[in-house]
Amino acid sequence: MTDIRDDARDGFDAVFGHAPDGLWSAPGRVNLIGEHTDYNEGFVLPFAIDRRTVVALGVRDDRRVRVASTFADELAEIDLDALAPDALGGWSAYPLGVAWAFSEFGADLAAVPGVDLFIDSDVPVGAGLSSSAAIESAVALALNDVWRLGLDRRTLARVGQRAENVAVGAPTGIMDQSASLLGQVDHAVFLDCRTLESELVPLGLAEAGLAILVIDTGVKHSHATGGYGERRAACERGAAAMGASSLRDLTVDDLPRAQQLLDDVTFRRIRHVITENQRVLDTVGVLKAQGASAIGELLDASHRSMRDDFEISVPELDLAVETAVGAGAIGARMTGGGFGGAAIALVRVGDLSRVQVAVDNAFGEHAFGQPDTFVVTASDGAARN
Ligand code: ADP
Ligand code: MG
Repeated sequence: MTDIRDDARDGFDAVFGHAPDGLWSAPGRVNLIGEHTDYNEGFVLPFAIDRRTVVALGVRDDRRVRVASTFADELAEIDLDALAPDALGGWSAYPLGVAWAFSEFGADLAAVPGVDLFIDSDVPVGAGLSSSAAIESAVALALNDVWRLGLDRRTLARVGQRAENVAVGAPTGIMDQSASLLGQVDHAVFLDCRTLESELVPLGLAEAGLAILVIDTGVKHSHATGGYGERRAACERGAAAMGASSLRDLTVDDLPRAQQLLDDVTFRRIRHVITENQRVLDTVGVLKAQGASAIGELLDASHRSMRDDFEISVPELDLAVETAVGAGAIGARMTGGGFGGAAIALVRVGDLSRVQVAVDNAFGEHAFGQPDTFVVTASDGAARN
């Protein structure tokens, strides 16, 4: 953490020729359970992780916004008065899209000063750990502070989502930004994506001798294209055919009727969402009553549902999950939007190396690229620091 902060400060100095006025940071997230439920107004249970994106910011005395990142070669720049979704593209649509999105939430940007931004991060990009929400949330908190806009964190999450939906063009839900902004050390964020009410649920992993192992398959995904949008459309189609405004209004009791009414694919898509909502509620209940060591079967069931019903897994993710569980993990599932990215495994600390070695070996045997495996801890959300 100290390293990326120093790197962000140094990077800012190298690009803009002076020290920044301040540093803000926001974490990536792991979704413990509740996948593709957020845009269906359902439930999710993510936590903020100990990998962060840092924004070094300097206030300017004109209306230019310039943004650079260790991940990008070119400096992007635009005048505040020219900010519009159509004017943005590439990686800088994330930070500049956030600047634009404030105007959609009642902020008056007519008199705010321009800024220079330099971004550094140790959140893996495109791994399903939401580097996108980390960059959005860090920029949103920074601009909210220096422009004195006074928006609360729930609204900042919506600003980030708006940037991603409209400026980037990825039809993602509110989960990632909420985890990045509302997370707290050792807690998961239980979020109702309809009301946006949230509750911090203690995870108690360390006390129970447990850890969450991330297995980043290295298979890159993009939510701005392809399957993610198709899944979202299938959910909307299924809800409409069932006479519901969203899948949130349906329960497992509606599944027999859905099977009668819908084609097989649409039925399986909505069965995933409906059962996944129930698994989130069950996971929160089990965490409170019995602790994390008892949620393994819910994680496994979530993975099966994504693999067989929602069809967003890939062979590398399935192998990671099966191998981890076979080597002693309490439960495992792919995490994030799917089509690549990472899996998580809930593992007794004493079993960590065995699980890691087993996964490495299995990937080797299948001639898949070596995965990156690392433990994550539940950490605090976005902060000025
Ligand atoms: P994920 O959120 O799972 O990491 P996404 O496809 O949603 O994957 O978002 C990744 C994209 O976000 C990158 O391709 C890049 O455009 C942008 N991004 C994320 N972090 C950074 C960063 N530190 N610097 C520049 N761009 C970034
Ligand atoms: Mg993302």
